[in-house]
Amino acid sequence: MNKREFLKATGALAAAGLLGRMAPCEPRSAAANSAAPRTNWAGNLTYGTNNLQAPQTVDDLRAAVKAATMVRALGSRHSFSAIADSAHEQISLEHLAEMTLDEKAKTVTVGGGVTYSQLAPWLDQRGYALHNLASLPGITVAGACATATHGSGLKNANLATVVSAVEFVTANGDLVRLERGRDGEKFLGAVVGLGAVGIVTRTTLDVQPTYKVAQSIYQDLKFEELEKHFEEIFASGYSVSVFTDWQHRRAEQVWVKRRLKVGDANQWAPELFGAKLATVKLHPLAGHPTENVTDQLGIPGPWYDRLPHFRIGQTPSGGNELQTEYFVPWESGWAAVQAVEKLHEKIEPHILITELRTIAPDRLWMSMAHQRASLAIHFTWKPDWPGVKQVLPLIEMQLRPFQPRPHWGKLFTLQAAQLEPCYTRLPIFRALAAHYDPQGKFRNAFVRANLYAG
Ligand SMILES: Cc1cc2nc3c(=O)[nH]c(=O)nc-3n(C[C@H](O)[C@H](O)[C@H](O)COP(=O)(O)OP(=O)(O)OC[C@H]3O[C@@H](n4cnc5c(N)ncnc54)[C@H](O)[C@@H]3O)c2cc1C
Repeated sequence: MNKREFLKATGALAAAGLLGRMAPCEPRSAAANSAAPRTNWAGNLTYGTNNLQAPQTVDDLRAAVKAATMVRALGSRHSFSAIADSAHEQISLEHLAEMTLDEKAKTVTVGGGVTYSQLAPWLDQRGYALHNLASLPGITVAGACATATHGSGLKNANLATVVSAVEFVTANGDLVRLERGRDGEKFLGAVVGLGAVGIVTRTTLDVQPTYKVAQSIYQDLKFEELEKHFEEIFASGYSVSVFTDWQHRRAEQVWVKRRLKVGDANQWAPELFGAKLATVKLHPLAGHPTENVTDQLGIPGPWYDRLPHFRIGQTPSGGNELQTEYFVPWESGWAAVQAVEKLHEKIEPHILITELRTIAPDRLWMSMAHQRASLAIHFTWKPDWPGVKQVLPLIEMQLRPFQPRPHWGKLFTLQAAQLEPCYTRLPIFRALAAHYDPQGKFRNAFVRANLYAG
């Protein structure tokens, strides 16, 4: 399928027509009110407005929000779902790019436009680190936290769980700051705000002393071994990802990322339950350039250049793709994998790769891991939305016994009535959003369809 066919095929998601696609690794730019229609990173979604504002200061942002009738914050455009879309106006915070380290409090405060690609090396140079990162670094801190973006690790909760304070502009242009500890429940509701509570101007994150990580890959793990040693395999590193294409009952790659202690011998066993230690660098997607992935083969490196799979400034994943991800309870993880595996023939025509990751539970109301240690079953699909749209309900049906929670930034077909029982705090989240946005100025079609129609 060529680019034009791809966009056309996935146009079911688009609010506007067929458009040119931006290169996936292209730096984002907020060309305000440009005549050229605009898409998300993957190109599967054409935003429903060309009205993109990019205020230079917080005061300009406050004035712009106050004046708007309907508006949505836009991060680095990496969501596949229409969560960041607007039929009226979007606001990019790319000019709010300050980073301030508070060594006494062990926190860093970042502007609403800062990406992990900008923050992570800057922090490392000053001797500090974050607890975890997503598979790619080029997403904004505000956009990632708004959707409970995560990495992997049995003991690692999502990226938003290290937020200790958040400052945002409310619908009437006021500036509000909520702090962990001081603002209790309100804070827990606002951090994973899905763009519906306010437009985040500053986020304060906990930092820790910098550390080194080494990663290695084991190839060809049989599903029988995965079943027998499910917990041991996911506990074999600080962050572990298991990749499968659901064919032949095996995982092609197991990525093990180890956090190195001082004096760590950094030795890697030649096998992991029958899977063999790779001797060459690998990309999760066969045939893709390995220059794009972070160093492997046990070579130690800074945390920010090992915890993500993809390197700063390089195209993450494949580029021409769609993504979906469901969170299920960790205790039911293997049962859920087996349930999906039954569909392997239906999945095969559409799949590029699946990644299994673990996420520790948290208290953030709208997080997919809210009060639930989770296994996340991720699908990178070929860019064929009509085909993928057929297979998602089958997967969702198979996962129904596990109350699957879909990643807010990826594609799913579950309806609001099915999401509502998964989020016990949804009614008070709606009340919180209404408190800061009584008229629903931040409520786009995605939010209305998924959070208000249950
Ligand atoms: C190749 C690829 C790999 C990915 N890997 C992972 C992964 O490893 N783990 C994972 O969990 N996800 C992953 N994702 C999904 C991605 O992390 C999320 O979709 C994330 O929300 C994208 O952040 P963004 O800055 O692009 O935000 P956008 O997609 O632009 O926006 C996402 C949401 O954040 C809101 N938002 C943005 N900025 C603000 C702000 N300042 N104030 C309030 N709300 C705001 C938007 O309104 C929207 O609701 C991946 C996506 C891609 C394309």
